Amino acid sequence: MRFAKLVIATKNEGKYTEFKEIITNTAGGNFADEIIFAPDAAELIVNETGKTYVDNAMLKARAWAEETRLPCLADDSGLEVMALGGAPGVYSARVVRGRDVDRAVWLLSKLSKETYRRARFVAALSLCVPSEYTIITEGYCKGSIAEHPSGENGFGYDPVFIPDDYDHTFAELPSDVKNKISHRADAFRKLIKILS
Ligand code: IMP
Repeated sequence: MRFAKLVIATKNEGKYTEFKEIITNTAGGNFADEIIFAPDAAELIVNETGKTYVDNAMLKARAWAEETRLPCLADDSGLEVMALGGAPGVYSARVVRGRDVDRAVWLLSKLSKETYRRARFVAALSLCVPSEYTIITEGYCKGSIAEHPSGENGFGYDPVFIPDDYDHTFAELPSDVKNKISHRADAFRKLIKILS
């Protein structure tokens, strides 16, 4: 399957950059001739009213596909911390108003007395091809929450997430490492499998 144009249905530039790298790493130039950042395609606000990652990823992909009439790839993702019963989960972007750093600080304060720091990132990925089909997959990346934030790369909770088998946070690791082992990369590989 090769698309002439593919819209990455996100307003988060960090996610857009990651998707481009994941698509190139996984499928070379064979997935899409042109990859478009959603804000370049149109102005659209999608309210994330779903209760699950899958619901929200489908909402975003379908809304953007309807708006642009082009194949659209959207994700909805979050961080699940076991000692917090899976929170912040689907509310990861909204658990505290403000910047990414405020949410990372909130998380560390919640875990200040906690030694059990297991966590996982989850991403639901939805590909909507207008008038044809919508595919949905889910990917995971397991790890643990650091004691302190470190690193400058990435976005969101990257400075406090240490993936399994590494001694550094996602924000310290080079982007090509994150984009091989991340929840989005896992979900994208599953999508490619379905398409092929
Ligand atoms: P949404 O999918 O845009 O609703 O938001 C997902 C939120 O989860 C982001 O704003 C981040 O806070 C967090 N998140 C998801 N994936 C990642 C990641 O790869 N690194 C760091 N934070 C992430």
